[in-house]
Amino acid sequence: MAFNHPGYTEWLAAETKLDAMPPLKRPAASTPSSKRRTRKTSTSLTLSIEDFHQLGDFAEAGLEAVRLALERADKALSDGRVPISGAAVEMKKTGALHVVAVGQNGRIPPLPSEETGYPTDHGETAAIREIEDVSKVDWSQVVFATSLSPCVMCGAALTWLWSLGLRRIVVAESLNFSGTADMLAKLDGMTVVRLSSVKAQSMMMKFSTKYPWDWAADIGEIPPSDLKFSQSLEERSESLRVLMAKMQSLMTPKGHVHCIAAVVSAKGIHASAEDERSQSGGNETRSAVMLAMGQAGSQVNLRECVLVFMAPGTVETNLDDFGSVSIGACKLFRPAKVVVTAPPVDELRASLEGAGIPVLVADT
Ligand SMILES: [Zn+2]
Repeated sequence: MAFNHPGYTEWLAAETKLDAMPPLKRPAASTPSSKRRTRKTSTSLTLSIEDFHQLGDFAEAGLEAVRLALERADKALSDGRVPISGAAVEMKKTGALHVVAVGQNGRIPPLPSEETGYPTDHGETAAIREIEDVSKVDWSQVVFATSLSPCVMCGAALTWLWSLGLRRIVVAESLNFSGTADMLAKLDGMTVVRLSSVKAQSMMMKFSTKYPWDWAADIGEIPPSDLKFSQSLEERSESLRVLMAKMQSLMTPKGHVHCIAAVVSAKGIHASAEDERSQSGGNETRSAVMLAMGQAGSQVNLRECVLVFMAPGTVETNLDDFGSVSIGACKLFRPAKVVVTAPPVDELRASLEGAGIPVLVADT
């Protein structure tokens, strides 16, 4: 991944040191502090409507979406959280603006909180996940803004929204992180406005310097230190048989639920989730894989974990069941292995293995 942020460069230089750290623990300097200060959210974002001329009639919606995203990111930074946010604003036929969703990165949970963080909530996916029914949104009238150029997971999410009609994206900052903005701009009919917001750049810089561990973990760049569990799982091995036996009761779908996913390591089952797409208008950020990886929490290094995916009653594991945004999340967080209970279609296997993720079929 092309990633030239100074904070990231520092992290790369410190990789040997990070490698030696306990795998599931943030370095002390990176631990969210209960003494986090809060201050009034700054709205001095120096945005101008002229910056959005590419959006034509949707310029106002674009400006409002960026304003909301940066305002939320600024608040996040004040609270010691990750200052990366997303916002979707719809322009109604009357010209009125309607806020569809605003979301922020969930890696560091709010305080006080019992939560452990939600790694699949990036600015974009967090905003989308909170939409109750994505099928009720007229995406052709929406401008989606992000505070930072989308990663491969969020790029997959926005590509999926493009398939639903989204044609306008604004990226507040892509100078230091190219992300997937170029790829998104190539989608048929898509307009991507790329700003160089000094405010956004400053927030990213502050955060990555102060919390290099979280910054790196947020894009799957903390190296795994223990792969023994995933390596013990081989075709027809005893370890795989034991794992699938444990999964059996857990992974029996209830009622209409079709797909189930779980995040597992030598420490046990970190999280399991049933697919919620059918209850959310097909919201791809609520696929079983996205939910399980999110609920596993930020302390888990997904690169040391095995992702188990099951779609009972199917003879093959297809792309739709697994989910397009789920594939993006796997490419980003790179679980050590994906175990499926039915052979994957070629495209799914190629996508995962192309990202260096071995796929194992477990007979159940
Ligand atoms: Zn992302």
